[in-house]
Amino acid sequence: MAKKIQAIRGMNDILPTQSPVWQYLEGTVKDVLAGYGYDEIRMPVLEQTALFKRSIGEVTDIVEKEMYTFEDRNGDSLTLRPEGTASCVRACEEHGLLYNQTQRLWYTGPMFRHERPQKGRYRQFYQIGVETFGIATPDIDAELILMTARLWEQLGLADSVTLQLNTLGSNDARARYRDALVDYLSARKDQLDEDSQRRLETNPLRVLDSKNPETQALLADAPELHDYLDDESRSDFEALRAVLDAAGVKYEINQRLVRGLDYYCKTVFEWVTDKLGAQGTVCAGGRYDGLVEQLGGKPTPAVGFAMGVERLILMLETLEVIPAEVMQTVDLYVCGVGEGASLASLMLADSLRAEQPWLRVQTHCGGGSFKSQMKKADKSGALFALLLGETEIAEKQVAVKDLRGEAGQQTIAQSELAQWLTDNLS
Ligand code: ATP
Ligand code: MG
Repeated sequence: MAKKIQAIRGMNDILPTQSPVWQYLEGTVKDVLAGYGYDEIRMPVLEQTALFKRSIGEVTDIVEKEMYTFEDRNGDSLTLRPEGTASCVRACEEHGLLYNQTQRLWYTGPMFRHERPQKGRYRQFYQIGVETFGIATPDIDAELILMTARLWEQLGLADSVTLQLNTLGSNDARARYRDALVDYLSARKDQLDEDSQRRLETNPLRVLDSKNPETQALLADAPELHDYLDDESRSDFEALRAVLDAAGVKYEINQRLVRGLDYYCKTVFEWVTDKLGAQGTVCAGGRYDGLVEQLGGKPTPAVGFAMGVERLILMLETLEVIPAEVMQTVDLYVCGVGEGASLASLMLADSLRAEQPWLRVQTHCGGGSFKSQMKKADKSGALFALLLGETEIAEKQVAVKDLRGEAGQQTIAQSELAQWLTDNLS
């Protein structure tokens, strides 16, 4: 036998048994987004490499070591998108969506990062991202956070996630803080872990989210970001907090939350959970007022976030908060045995779908005894089996068997079936 070819490490198949949960999550998110008046945008998964280098930043983990970059047949350098924000800005600019108007957008799809695969960390993973453009005031930052809080509520995750909140200040304020931090850390350079020593040169703020305990201990006496904030960032942060307080959304201010990408300023936030082990961040975002200009557009205020779909699904599964009906994807299973049964089954199922489009009807195909067909009916997850034998066909009747409850089996006229189903199923 020929050797089987396997999927690429860190790139997962979503199997038919898993996709109902994906659809449930995506459907719930779409409903919540619709409730806030956000519109969908779809971007390609491939972009010019320069787009990500210029937006995410040359000395970030993503650009330094995680991107899938290759030359195509024309010799152009292309990259499989590691995230959606840069593509979204590129698309909006390219189609004039940022000129004299505001945008509230969302997208979903696969992202690609060459990371070490482990639970909650993959090389192809899915994000649902939300981006807003043209609004400088912190009311929109607040709206985004309230929206995510509503989503956790809808999904039954609210008690299992906490909000970490910070403001990075203006670019100037951050630059002044960076200098102070570099002074402090340079004097103690030999006490830093290797990664942090490197970051001290390239991207010193990233030292703040070092996981190394000694580095963290060293940071205890380091200058604090909030002592360097500009007045506007300070008052915007107050305004954001006032909305969250009024809405009863709890948060923890974490001055060391800086996020791994270069383009953030002012508000940054992460929703984290302790239910998933090391990969605890399920949703992350912030303000990026400088990015549009950095990519060649006019200065445009912007704020957004992205959530990791796999991590949210792991949470739904771990916490067992997936509603039972999500996994039930078939309502009726139509079985038929004897002369003309196959044709009669197909016709009956189709007339039901025509009359009641919400019904999910699976028709047995492939013949076999009633017993073997009933096994399939049971396995399908259907609530009722419809049985057609020669007698039922001749008398325009159908036997209805309750597969899950106590109702047993009864014979009813096919002309009354639609009404019966409305009464018993919807
Ligand atoms: P992490 O700190 O876990 O590496 P990140 O800061 O790199 O996350 P972002 O770029 O902010 O992540 O992406 C937003 C969200 O996408 C994350 O909070 C996470 O839920 C999800 N995510 C990021 N990288 C991966 C991955 N390799 N596999 C699965 N989900 C991911
Ligand atoms: Mg990462």
